[in-house]
Amino acid sequence: MTRVTEEQILDALKTVVDGDKDIVSLGMVSGLQVKDGHVAFAIEVAAERGPQLEPLRQQAEQVVHALPGVISATVVLTAERQAAGASPAHRSPGDTPLGPPGAGGNGGAPAAPQARPQAAPQAAPQAAPQAAAPLMPGVNAIVAVASGKGGVGKSTVAVNLALGLAAGGHAVGVLDADIYGPSMPRMLGISGKPVSTDGRRLEPMENFGVKCMSMGFLVDEETPTIWRGPMVTSALQQMMRDVNWGALDVMIVDMPPGTGDAQLTMAQQVPLAGAVIVSTPQDIALLDARKGLNMFRQVDVPVFGFIENMSYFTCPHCGERSEIFSHGGARREAERLGIDFLGEIPLDIAIRETSDSGRPIVVSQPDSAQAKTYRAIADKVWEKVSQVLAARETSTPKIIVQ
Ligand code: ADP
Repeated sequence: MTRVTEEQILDALKTVVDGDKDIVSLGMVSGLQVKDGHVAFAIEVAAERGPQLEPLRQQAEQVVHALPGVISATVVLTAERQAAGASPAHRSPGDTPLGPPGAGGNGGAPAAPQARPQAAPQAAPQAAPQAAAPLMPGVNAIVAVASGKGGVGKSTVAVNLALGLAAGGHAVGVLDADIYGPSMPRMLGISGKPVSTDGRRLEPMENFGVKCMSMGFLVDEETPTIWRGPMVTSALQQMMRDVNWGALDVMIVDMPPGTGDAQLTMAQQVPLAGAVIVSTPQDIALLDARKGLNMFRQVDVPVFGFIENMSYFTCPHCGERSEIFSHGGARREAERLGIDFLGEIPLDIAIRETSDSGRPIVVSQPDSAQAKTYRAIADKVWEKVSQVLAARETSTPKIIVQ
């Protein structure tokens, strides 16, 4: 296969002009990475010009994508030239994406690949709940749904929890941050891509009264897994800041499974009010759940509790309950660790069928025992959220004008 070189890419980019000069001569191209036909770079612009330069971003993406040997091209606009806040030395080119992601098949993956997650276990926690204000001013509380490993039913819990909260009368959003396997669009029965009505911010997608934004909308499906971790920082920023979330009582974040760098970065970057950890009863999953607990403790995010998924099996024919795995492990572990236990969800065919087909059980069979279980968990989570909000209220310094 033809291999594309950096020189060829820069040559092609010399045809992209901003004003009377090309973007390469203007020194606007930074962080160029080429790997196995996948190309990523940033275009540095002044922050205030960001919204107008989306066509320039798209043009740059198209000329690179058209080169022989290029499989994907990912271009982001960054406000590196007007570094407000963090010092440039500590920011990656993908940290400040300005434009909405392009709607094209290749458009909009948000970060240059060398943008390493900046989390270090020792890093000072930045996730104070109050930090929600500048990013998503209308969102009252953000709750992460996490798991120590994949396949334990974290996304299924996240979607039914969100719908359970909505059933309780709350305004709810879901931010699907599972960069490795974004499943919220499918579980919420949402297809298509978000659009921007004002040319600046994306409108979230919506179904069953719940707003949703997903990594799946931003990251090109062809993006190699190895690049996804590094994209976390900017994709998250984009989903929080560049989406018109409006006023929400609570936002549920479906985290990527595991407790690695990418997850830690997220736990730091999203101003979380708290987290719930989903686990199956097997010992190994519980070990992983403990790692999840430690991760949130490291970044000072309160863990609201454990949820045991696939806890027991109820025969759909005779109703007999069998405890296939050693049921109750998560409850015991929660007690041991001094964490609340929020509930147990059975291994159940209807749960699987409904969430996998985009009609989660809380909305499609609201009178079922399973839906009641999810709603009870949602009530407990809301109780925890209310406590955090009340504490925030009393701890926020009041400014008294005399
Ligand atoms: P994760 O987000 O942890 O990777 P998912 O929520 O995607 O896991 O679930 C993995 C699979 O297990 C899905 O097919 C889902 O429908 C199924 N599943 C999740 N929870 C249950 C449950 N309680 N009973 C039966 N199947 C479930």
